[in-house]
Amino acid sequence: DGVIWLDGEMVPWREAKVHLLTHTLHYGMGVFEGVRAYDAEQGTAIFRLQEHTDRLFNSAKILNMQLPFDKETLNEAQKASVRENGLKSAYIRPMAFFGSEGMGLRADNLQVHVMVAAWEWGAYMGEENLTRGIKIATSSYTRHHVNVTMTKAKSNGQYMNSMLALQEAISHGCDEALLLDVDGYVSEGSGENFFMVKDGVLYTPELTSCLDGITRRTIMQLAKDAGIEVVEKRITRDEVYIADEAFFTGTAAEVTPIRMLDGRAIGAGTRGPVTEQLQSLYFDIVHGRSPA
Ligand code: PLP
Repeated sequence: DGVIWLDGEMVPWREAKVHLLTHTLHYGMGVFEGVRAYDAEQGTAIFRLQEHTDRLFNSAKILNMQLPFDKETLNEAQKASVRENGLKSAYIRPMAFFGSEGMGLRADNLQVHVMVAAWEWGAYMGEENLTRGIKIATSSYTRHHVNVTMTKAKSNGQYMNSMLALQEAISHGCDEALLLDVDGYVSEGSGENFFMVKDGVLYTPELTSCLDGITRRTIMQLAKDAGIEVVEKRITRDEVYIADEAFFTGTAAEVTPIRMLDGRAIGAGTRGPVTEQLQSLYFDIVHGRSPA
């Protein structure tokens, strides 16, 4: 039940379908966002809505995809998706994709469609993992060239190695994967940015090897405001093994502690104090308890 915004109109959930010859279904070239609304019934705004919309438009520009709507319309569509579906704590998925007017790799002559779906969603990695932390494994899949050179774009086609990495991690009894970049340095999770703490300093990989995450930016700012030194640098796998704390960030993952990598406990093997502090500051702003 509910409605999905498609090309400017609200369509009943069950009728919001695409043709089997939809180009993006065949070749995977499209752009999307993952956005969260918190406490919508109490009027708390969608978290970082404008930043997500801006990134969607940047992703489209990078892929040379002409979006047939302006940013204001997309902002309104996201708000309407939460409101008209009566959602409280929602995940919102805007996506732009190529239509079914032609096959072959050429796409500039195809229609670009835009959709926004929203549904009720809680903690992506499970409520208990927000305190206990997750077990992860270094992946045999690396962030490939397109990911590394186009970290400003959030495109469907970039998720194949993320999905393979996640599958591999789960088959090894872990919750998530840690992907390395082509040079062997730590990049990110399948859909999360990576942070570690050593001697009170917060480290995260540079943007050359991971998506320019909106939660990443938020956490870096919160840390700086709290007087924590933040350093962006190339991180090696062994530095993570001997880190005091590690965590993932993402719109879906929020701030998820990492308690183990490749069978080695990180720090005390539980959520560390800096992680807890940043997590709590993050939840305060998304829930509107402190200014964003
Ligand atoms: N890295 C990847 C590969 C992602 O897919 C995501 C999720 O969007 C992130 C990082 C985290 O980004 P954000 O905080 O903007 O959700």
